[in-house]
Amino acid sequence: MNYNIETRCIHGDGDNLSEHSFGSLSVPIYQTATFAHPGIGQSTGFDYSRESNPTRKELEKIVSSLEGAADTVACSTGMAAVSLCLELFEGGSHFLCTDDLYGGSVRIFTTVGERKGFSFSYVDTSDPAQVEKAIQKNTKALYIETPSNPTMKVTDLAAMKKIADKYGLLVIVDNTFLTPYFQNPIALGADLVIHSGTKFLCGHNDTLAGFLCTGRKDLAEKIRFLYKTVGCCLSPFDSFMLIRGIKTLAVRLEKQQKSALYLAKWLKAQEKIREVYYVGLPTHPGYTVNAGQARGFGSMISFRTDTEETARKLLERVKLISYAESLGGTESLLTYPMLQTHGDVPVEIREKLGITETFLRLSVGLENEEDLAADLKQALA
Ligand SMILES: *Cc1c(COP(=O)(O)O)cnc(C)c1O
Repeated sequence: MNYNIETRCIHGDGDNLSEHSFGSLSVPIYQTATFAHPGIGQSTGFDYSRESNPTRKELEKIVSSLEGAADTVACSTGMAAVSLCLELFEGGSHFLCTDDLYGGSVRIFTTVGERKGFSFSYVDTSDPAQVEKAIQKNTKALYIETPSNPTMKVTDLAAMKKIADKYGLLVIVDNTFLTPYFQNPIALGADLVIHSGTKFLCGHNDTLAGFLCTGRKDLAEKIRFLYKTVGCCLSPFDSFMLIRGIKTLAVRLEKQQKSALYLAKWLKAQEKIREVYYVGLPTHPGYTVNAGQARGFGSMISFRTDTEETARKLLERVKLISYAESLGGTESLLTYPMLQTHGDVPVEIREKLGITETFLRLSVGLENEEDLAADLKQALA
């Protein structure tokens, strides 16, 4: 744990990660379902790949190192990690959630979650007073995204931890937007950290993955049992892809953040753009709280156009930027949250959050920032 984070992206904690057969620097892809036993009651340490696999184990160790976790399980998708997290709770549990969550999380809560007998309330977690007021007798956990998706509200994680301790709740943080490179929720008191590894961790818009991390040994043991039981594991090949992606996490995020700040300022100066939501702008309401708990602001920008026509024009006319769902990869993506990521969020909630026909989300990729601005400019014209 003495290494700095850029080094840990490549070597994890440094404990023999690079000791592979023949001096192979990159991890072999152990494309096997099962492992032969040396003798009765003996194991090589691996028995069956649903439970564990050497390629995936190496990835899990790297993510644990980055998040400061006691253990991490690598799942087939981010949603598989969210689903696994829900398995930790008994029927009747109530969850207090950030009102502005990833739409897929809201969908699993209101369908699968409610069928399991869970209930969910959505509050503006950037205001701790609202969180405390909404706690019920059966509340078991706070479920937080900070910055939130897509309106970029920032939640004070230390304040959440304080409330959680007072009422005996778990703190769950979906850390997809900032990644462990910029933010470590476990160090700020979170019990569980979720990632869509599909986004910045993979970073190349080419592989789906998810992670569930915990700093607690007791929870780690329960998660490992559920993980092998439900079978939501990441394949050896995709584990390799994630290891490869994470090696460049630090340089990618620094560059993407720099471009995002440039584009947030550029968007602010455009006549047809009404409001820009980027946590890295000092005028953003969550700027100070974020600066106090994270090492960066990320590269996700949301903005509002003057009219629906402008929003549609942008989506249809961008050339370098793709009109697509997802985020965090090498290619810049423009998303229409109302129809895409948040299409299944009930209309009343969506309107209350301001996710309307003029609201767009931009994931800033690794292209040159002036080229990206020029693309937006021609689309706006
Ligand atoms: C994409 C995303 C998810 C779901 O992850 P998948 O890998 O698409 O299943 C969960 N949370 C956030 C914040 C996301 O952006």
